[in-house]
Amino acid sequence: MNIPFSPPFINDQVIEEVIDTLKSGWITTGPKVKSLEEEIVKLTNCHNALCVNSWTSGAMLVLKWFGVGPGDEVIVPAYTYSATALCVLHCGATPVMVDVLEDFTMNPNKLELAITERTKVIIPVDIAGLLCNYPHIMEIVNRDNIVSRFTPASPKQLQLGRILILSDAAHSIGAKYDNINSGSATDITVFSFHAVKNITTAEGGAICLNLNDKFNNQVEYDLMRLWSLNGQNKDAFTKSKAGGWRYDILFAGLKVNMPDLCAAVGLAQIRQYKQLLIERLRVAKQYNDFFSHKKWAQLPVIQDDNRVSCNHLYALRIFNITEEFRDLMIENIAASGVSVNVHFIPMPMLTVFKDLGYLIENYPTAYDNYSREISLPIYPQLTTEQVDYICSTIENSYNRLIGE
Ligand SMILES: *Cc1c(COP(=O)(O)O)cnc(C)c1O
Repeated sequence: MNIPFSPPFINDQVIEEVIDTLKSGWITTGPKVKSLEEEIVKLTNCHNALCVNSWTSGAMLVLKWFGVGPGDEVIVPAYTYSATALCVLHCGATPVMVDVLEDFTMNPNKLELAITERTKVIIPVDIAGLLCNYPHIMEIVNRDNIVSRFTPASPKQLQLGRILILSDAAHSIGAKYDNINSGSATDITVFSFHAVKNITTAEGGAICLNLNDKFNNQVEYDLMRLWSLNGQNKDAFTKSKAGGWRYDILFAGLKVNMPDLCAAVGLAQIRQYKQLLIERLRVAKQYNDFFSHKKWAQLPVIQDDNRVSCNHLYALRIFNITEEFRDLMIENIAASGVSVNVHFIPMPMLTVFKDLGYLIENYPTAYDNYSREISLPIYPQLTTEQVDYICSTIENSYNRLIGE
């Protein structure tokens, strides 16, 4: 049996939506993007959603909008995909890494210790589709002694008057903390619609605004939309109308808008997302049923007292193994036709961050999580038989290697 890790979900509805876009005569940012933004607002309860061409560019846009630059610090977890820190470097600011908890989310205590007068933004990451402890994180940044150390250096920083929480929700669309949806749990949330994510537009992302009453979210949406389109006061769709040729460039914006052709894929998927989430949960439960009977297996959290995961990843860990043993297991599993993965190599282990002086020794939980982790395939198209096969493949591989 050959089982891919994360193929995109493409059914007739997706194909029809794309064909409809192709036949419409309009393929870049226009009505499909608008509809996708409306669906995101409906799903997440955020005030406004702006589609962009990736998580990475969306996060850069938010940091630039907030006036983050050289000398500023942005706190990120050490355990994430590198984009979380690269967007900070692209703005000339310094990523400050903190360790994570055993459940993979940012450690709020470590986060609190990392805050300085230079801290402008915190980017918690909802690894695997499990939300961070946002009530705790929001409580920290609103605390008087934290607020009084905040040193605003841009109009938006002055307006907010405290550290901005920007959620890396690349994994967590559809997840909840109590009754709060991912997308409306913090000031600003950015989703990724990259090809392997729960909802995809091939490449893409969305910025969800949930700013407090010091802001008018619609006004900030309009401004960020300008940021996504070269700072041009008229988008291509409006300009294409007869007589609408004249435009102005108001400031040096980015060019990170999402095309309608891409939005069509995500639009068809988000309309079916409730069902897709049920199928993901089915797979996660089948894994849990199997691995909960294995003493050597550490199950990921898919639900607890506060949180419901959207099951983007199934991050299995094996107790008491080394990184080398884990790597051997993956080799073994791959030989049986099952594609697995590791989420993630902690950033301090990657060249770009090593060269900047980050040391993995300072992030023991991140390393421990990483060294024992194997991400199993999880997506709606997986059949019960395929999941059975994956489970026995993992078990056989463990038993074989442990016996050696
Ligand atoms: C995928 C991913 C990103 C980057 O998303 P892009 O849309 O590819 O820019 C950022 N953070 C995390 C945690 C991711 O998994």
